[in-house]
Amino acid sequence: MSDMEKVHCLIIGSGPAGYTAAIYASRANLHPILYQGLQPGGQLTITTEVENYPGYPNGVMGPQMMVDFEQQAQRMGADIRWGMITKVDFSQRPFKVEVDEEKWIEADSIIIATGASAKWLGLESESRLNGHGVSACAVCDGFFFKNQEVAIVGAGDTACEEALYLSKLCTHVHMLVRRDEMRASRVMKERVLKTANITVHWNSEPAEILGENKVESVRVRNTQTGAESIIPLKAVFIAIGHQPNSGLFKGVIDMDDQGYIITQPGSTKTNVPGVFACGDVQDKIYRQAVSAAGSGCMAALDAERYLGEMEL
Ligand code: NDP
Repeated sequence: MSDMEKVHCLIIGSGPAGYTAAIYASRANLHPILYQGLQPGGQLTITTEVENYPGYPNGVMGPQMMVDFEQQAQRMGADIRWGMITKVDFSQRPFKVEVDEEKWIEADSIIIATGASAKWLGLESESRLNGHGVSACAVCDGFFFKNQEVAIVGAGDTACEEALYLSKLCTHVHMLVRRDEMRASRVMKERVLKTANITVHWNSEPAEILGENKVESVRVRNTQTGAESIIPLKAVFIAIGHQPNSGLFKGVIDMDDQGYIITQPGSTKTNVPGVFACGDVQDKIYRQAVSAAGSGCMAALDAERYLGEMEL
């Protein structure tokens, strides 16, 4: 007999998807346990105001919204715990997960809601100056560089959106685009190109971010010619996409070539019956708090149905 803790429904992750799954699973009497992971509340805890989440007519600060989600899940009876899932074993039932490299828990069903994280360029100077002028979130940190000159790296919709956001705060925005075209949608690209205080530097990438304790300039390399130049500025925003936090499930749960978990269309089912995925870890298209919350609800309903069918 095992004296291991056993749970009906284990939720991994604490963004809108995880907490919504916890609210629904609690109300369905599944007595879920939710492990919050490295960044309780997820990506919304590094944003400022959220204006597009329905139900908050006056907007809400991202961190506050996640406190609201957590409290609602707790009020419904979810057992919310600080801790990381460090290993999983889905080869037998009940499933087993390791918490904080210390103890194992058994679970009849699993909901993966581990989200996604911003990608970085990988420069030494980028990590050294992170938080001192280097940021992956213009909306969070742009304010600190009001009336200053800044750069943004990337050419997708996020980079365009953030460049436009920064152009309203900062004196000048240098947009570093590594090719001679932008990946972003036409409308976003056009908006950027006609904004007077945004300069697009084509075929350009940061070779190094310069500064001792804070950003002072960026050394830009031309990707075609290799020629380098220096732009003095106060901040460099990185907007080169996100990566799903799915490493824990590699080789076990089916993923696409970018690591996004594959779910069966119209459901949150993964290739392992009883393991469900919701939120940004399985969504590279919408990536919104409200769509993540919606898929968290779906995951809890799918888990409930699975447990019923399996008579667990
Ligand atoms: P994307 O993957 O679309 O774009 C990433 C950008 O970063 C590309 O321009 C890419 O260049 C560039 N890049 C990647 N790595 C590097 C590097 N090492 N150095 C320099 N540049 C690099 O990510 P987004 O976050 O912009 O968008 C993700 C998804 O979300 C997309 O589907 C997008 O349409 C969507 N979205 C939609 C919005 C909207 O509709 N309002 C807002 C925000 C996002 P390259 O093109 O050369 O590969």
